[in-house]
Amino acid sequence: MRFATDATVGKLGRHLRSAGFDTLCQHQSRRGNFFETIDGERVILTRTRLVKLRFKRRPLVFIRDNDPYRQMIQVVHELKLGWCDLNLFSRCLECNEAIRPVDRATVAGRVPAYVWQYHHTFHACAKCGRIYWAGSHHDRMIQRLLAIFKQKDGETHEC
Ligand SMILES: [Zn+2]
Repeated sequence: MRFATDATVGKLGRHLRSAGFDTLCQHQSRRGNFFETIDGERVILTRTRLVKLRFKRRPLVFIRDNDPYRQMIQVVHELKLGWCDLNLFSRCLECNEAIRPVDRATVAGRVPAYVWQYHHTFHACAKCGRIYWAGSHHDRMIQRLLAIFKQKDGETHEC
């Protein structure tokens, strides 16, 4: 499942990218007519009533809550997403590209020294060059997602 967010739900867009979903964000687009130019299969996520009315024939979730975590819960429930739909930390948070494993030696000097010392696996975005590793934000994100899916399914199944 792929998504498109408007500027009212930018943080939700980053959460969805963390979870591995292909997500285009309006605030990163230079086009004024963002939703018209993207493919119609993408699920539009918005808090704007005007967008909801205008694109009522497109797949769309009208987001009710102001909190990105609760927004994520709504998306998971309404679209019946399962734990197996996720592909955690597989996508660049900045530009939505898939990230790829890179050799540890190639990131020396490009990440803080303590990070290089304590981490052995790194990924990089081919588009923007940003380097990713499993930091504490990974653990927090996993805990939050697990909580969402446990709430939904009672338990989280292995994929
Ligand atoms: Zn990138």
